[in-house]
Amino acid sequence: MTAALPTLATLAAAFGAALGLAIGSFLNVVVYRVPAGRSVVAPASACPGCDRPIRGRDNVPVLSWLVLRGRCRDCAMPISARYPLVEGATAVLFVLVAVRFLPAAGSSGREVTGAVLLLVALLVLMACSVALALIDLDTHTLPNRIVLPLYPVLAVMLTASSASSGDWAALVRGAVGLVVLGGTYLALAVAVPRGMGFGDVKLAGALGLVLAYLGWGPLAVGAFGAFLLGGTFGIVLLLVRRAGRSTGIPFGPWMLLGAWVGAFAGAPVWDAYLRLLGL
Ligand SMILES: [Zn+2]
Repeated sequence: MTAALPTLATLAAAFGAALGLAIGSFLNVVVYRVPAGRSVVAPASACPGCDRPIRGRDNVPVLSWLVLRGRCRDCAMPISARYPLVEGATAVLFVLVAVRFLPAAGSSGREVTGAVLLLVALLVLMACSVALALIDLDTHTLPNRIVLPLYPVLAVMLTASSASSGDWAALVRGAVGLVVLGGTYLALAVAVPRGMGFGDVKLAGALGLVLAYLGWGPLAVGAFGAFLLGGTFGIVLLLVRRAGRSTGIPFGPWMLLGAWVGAFAGAPVWDAYLRLLGL
């Protein structure tokens, strides 16, 4: 342990928080506009109540909502608390990713570059995870406009990461993970068309790529975690009679939550499991 390490973690946390707030603000626009097929860059955001454009000073993540006490400056129409909550949650998640996936102490220069490229890929995936989970909860869809670009973006970043670190085994593992997890969901979607959609299949391939790139433990824990968390929630929902057997509960948010549990804790959980089996 060197004295420089806590400083690096603090810097990463501050960077993650600032970036997360800004990206979270943009994700609110994405979640609102993408399902409607609208552009996320133009026009600028306007109040849905009075149509007046939102001023720059009223568009500061979290703070503006608090200063305005959740109402439009012009027409006093209530602004949903979901906006600052999404911004705050994205900031927290970015901090967790930035701190958890900091380059290991004692890494060589090339290893640090590789780790930073992996970290950027994970932040891209986290931003898309937040948007996709909210859109799936809202509309029961996982839009191609978000899921499909993940493939080339992640492939390029992970290839660059491997080229830098020299860890080509990770990239091969990622390709296997893409095929295995995507293939499993494809089989499920064909076998149980009511349970799984093709949006889930397309997302599964991208998650399999990243999880397996991180390791077999993250892939296994991420894949099983989705079914464990989603299944438990479904049973609880049935028990409290909030849902009938036919109520469609979107699975995307569980896939994403499971994947992130796998990314953060998959390696130690998997090692403990193998030890338990005596392997
Ligand atoms: Zn207004």
